Amino acid sequence: MSAFKALGCACLVASLTGAWAQPALSINSGGVVNAASSAPGASLAPGSIASIYGNFPIGAPSVALATPLPTSLGGLSLAFGAVEAPLFYASSGQVNLQIPWELADQSQASLTATLAGQTSAPQTVNLAQFAPGIFSMNGQGTGPGAILDSSYQLITPSHPAGAGITVILIYCTGLGPVTHQPPTGVPAPSNPPAVATMTPVVTIGGVPAQVLFAGLAPGSVGEYQVNALVPANAPTGDSVPVILYSGDVTSNTVEIAVQPPTPDQRADQLIAQMTQDQEIQLVYGAGGPVTNDFPLPRGAGGFVPGIPALGIPDLYLADGSVGVGNGVGQATALPSSIASAASWDVNEAYNYGSVIGAELRDYGMNVNLGGNVNLIGREPRDGRTFETKGEDPILAGKIAAAHINAIQAQHVIGGIKHFALNDQETGRTTADVQIDERGMRESDLLAFEIGVADSNVQSVMCSYNLVNDVYACENSHLLNDILKGDWQFPGFVMSDWWATHSTVAAALNGLDQEQPDNAFFGSLQQAVLSGQVPQSRLDDMVHRILRAMFAVGLFDYPTAITPVDTAGDQAIAQEAEEQGAVLLKNAGGQLPLNAAAIKSIAIVGSHADVAVLSGGGSAQVTPTGGPALTEGYPCPPCWAEVIWDPSSPMQAIQAMAPSATVQFDPGTNAASASALAAASQVAIVFVSQWTSEGMDLPSLNFTDVIHTPPIDQDALVAAVAAANPHTIVVMENGGAQVMPWLGSVSAVLEAWFPGQCGGPAIANLLFGAVNPSGKLPITFPASVDQLPHPVIATPPDSTTPFPVDYSEGFNVGYKWYDSQGLTPLFPFGFGLSYTTFSFSNAAVVNNLTSSNPNFQVTFNLANTGSVAGAEVAQVYLAFPASAGEPPKRLVGWQKVFLQPGAAQQATIEVDANDSSHPLSYWDVNSNAWLIAPGVYTVYLGNSSSSASLISAGTLTIGS
Ligand code: BGC
Repeated sequence: MSAFKALGCACLVASLTGAWAQPALSINSGGVVNAASSAPGASLAPGSIASIYGNFPIGAPSVALATPLPTSLGGLSLAFGAVEAPLFYASSGQVNLQIPWELADQSQASLTATLAGQTSAPQTVNLAQFAPGIFSMNGQGTGPGAILDSSYQLITPSHPAGAGITVILIYCTGLGPVTHQPPTGVPAPSNPPAVATMTPVVTIGGVPAQVLFAGLAPGSVGEYQVNALVPANAPTGDSVPVILYSGDVTSNTVEIAVQPPTPDQRADQLIAQMTQDQEIQLVYGAGGPVTNDFPLPRGAGGFVPGIPALGIPDLYLADGSVGVGNGVGQATALPSSIASAASWDVNEAYNYGSVIGAELRDYGMNVNLGGNVNLIGREPRDGRTFETKGEDPILAGKIAAAHINAIQAQHVIGGIKHFALNDQETGRTTADVQIDERGMRESDLLAFEIGVADSNVQSVMCSYNLVNDVYACENSHLLNDILKGDWQFPGFVMSDWWATHSTVAAALNGLDQEQPDNAFFGSLQQAVLSGQVPQSRLDDMVHRILRAMFAVGLFDYPTAITPVDTAGDQAIAQEAEEQGAVLLKNAGGQLPLNAAAIKSIAIVGSHADVAVLSGGGSAQVTPTGGPALTEGYPCPPCWAEVIWDPSSPMQAIQAMAPSATVQFDPGTNAASASALAAASQVAIVFVSQWTSEGMDLPSLNFTDVIHTPPIDQDALVAAVAAANPHTIVVMENGGAQVMPWLGSVSAVLEAWFPGQCGGPAIANLLFGAVNPSGKLPITFPASVDQLPHPVIATPPDSTTPFPVDYSEGFNVGYKWYDSQGLTPLFPFGFGLSYTTFSFSNAAVVNNLTSSNPNFQVTFNLANTGSVAGAEVAQVYLAFPASAGEPPKRLVGWQKVFLQPGAAQQATIEVDANDSSHPLSYWDVNSNAWLIAPGVYTVYLGNSSSSASLISAGTLTIGS
């Protein structure tokens, strides 16, 4: 309250400016005003504070705050008729006083001032039962009000009240009689008239507010305090009017800043109303053996029932890395997430995410189990490469953030997973990753850090594996120190499915929600009751879950099941494939195919007559219209049949070349395929590599895991290529591959798992209706011998943790090949086009000493070929040797579209403060990102291969 006292006095004293000098003791005409509203001519109410302006020659000002108040200050007294008024403050120009309670029954009184035996001429004062006035900050009763929140902080635009949340403390006067004795020594009327209620009406932005308290401000005289809750539906803004109504009299209008309540405020408000049982209900899933069984409502992959009494909605969790998964229903099968990364285009990635978000919503899902940013460059045989965003933490983090932003824009809580270092499927539940702090901060964790920072993602899924001997879902260093500490992640951590290993340790070490059941958190309430887990930690878990729900709009935009926009979403799926496919080889300008000139085309393999391949596991999408076909039951993972998406490359190719004879050979017999190829002008071989969660690949060769006996696709390609010099290979696969036949084919298109519009996309690319512009987000090794781990670490049994040694640290992907001096088959960042580009005039502009430290790479990019196309200009930075960094790091890029013959001056800005820490290394001693002094070399080009990079210049930092 002391804060307000000071402030209240300031207001009143500031009113001195209204005084004017007069020779003798006198009260100005109209100089008696309500001290809060300052309204001239307004009535005054008994008990309230008035300011009297006049000439009071008392010398130094005097202040009285102690009660009972004196009736004389500096020898000056003021009387209404015979009743002397209690005084607060007196100066030569202004007196503040309380209108005596004795005047309660009068409508007018005559005020005189007396000093040293001299009495002024009387002034007539109008009196009323009520004369409400709200103190303002400018002392004029207008503008910002002197209104505090319940922590006694002044409400201002930079400290606004939250609608529906904040209780405001309005300081005012003139509300009429109080029901308890004021500390003036003069009792309030013992029997106030019926209308003399102490509870005024308060409106905020015109909306009536709930009044929680009205009375004299503690320790105060005549100054009332009214506490009111800002209504949830109050208008928001910096100047929302507050008005008091007491009796039928209206106060002056002052303003406060009101904002919608923050998600944190709303979560706290809800928690205050929750029982412990209700809190516990939110910290685990209702799927599984303990409380409920699959299938879950709406076909969700996870379910947390809401609490209708408190308006808390159900949580419906569904996978969605490449389209909506689980048993939710048919959904648009997008191309692989790694294809989205291969576009190197965050706007394309946003569109990709918006399909997932929109379809999740259409199906009534409100939490996405997506955002796989595991850096599988460590282990490209990982069965989940297709769900990821490649091997580079910056590319992966930025693409994931774009997906998540699009998903959360649809009021679906986005996710990022699997935290952390879940880079192989082999023994994933017992793999004990061994890695040093700097190594993980600058690789796998950096992808998460960027994803979290750039997307406001609200859920993080901790992974199955252990990191440095501790299970990820009870790893305090990962969850508490790094995620919630260093990165200030405000949302909640959910476990991967059955990845929780304890109750107390998991809760204390940072897990907020167990999924999909309550095998461990079913005992959490007991642990809280026995004091093993503090109630405050349970509150924190629930706060994180609820604030995520508020932040993303789950309360304000309830789920409603609506039809999916199939056509719109499929158009995006096709474009995503067209932007993400990578042309790896194009000898002799084999592509694009000239429809007018081609008379016969052999299409071979991979059911290319009717379908394209999709990846398996929890990311599996059931495509719109249903699968074209299902077959096999690969073991591992021994989970499901393989789904082929309903999109026919052959049909689309025929449509592009209507006058050509297009024939299909299934590729199960190399001799028959090569006979068709020999009889055709062009042969297009579709090779496919099915991959899935729950398995890693035995090799990076195309390995048939679907059929028995397996089809030897490498031999098939070799046979077709031997029969036809115009052999084009289209690859449908999850990540990196080796290609023993590469030298014998004329063209190779990496189509990834192309999604259910892959057929037309592939045809458009092959015939040049779309010029390929994708770039590899993962290095293709020349052989598995080049990998950091030529042999995948395997578990001794299904329960014993086993070490997986990531001694390569941050040297993941191209950084590994660079550090080892290895030349891969295709480098990271590589991809061809049907046109050619040239970089020139590259320069570095060093703004690192500016307040916005950055450097810019400027260059001229020209399309030197004959068709329009897009190039991805990439900037790599080589650090000074003393920094101990990988030979070079991707720090920026830009995809530039150019018409043939056109050139463009382009600038790529690298911001030292970006979430990707492009100029910093992780310093283990100070636990911080630091910039090392020295000379940095900036490279520009269109892949990570040294051969395709030019030096744009150097940067010198420090001495
Ligand atoms: C996967 C997660 C997935 C979850 C729910 C787990 O097996 O690792 O990525 O979100 O299942 O389907």
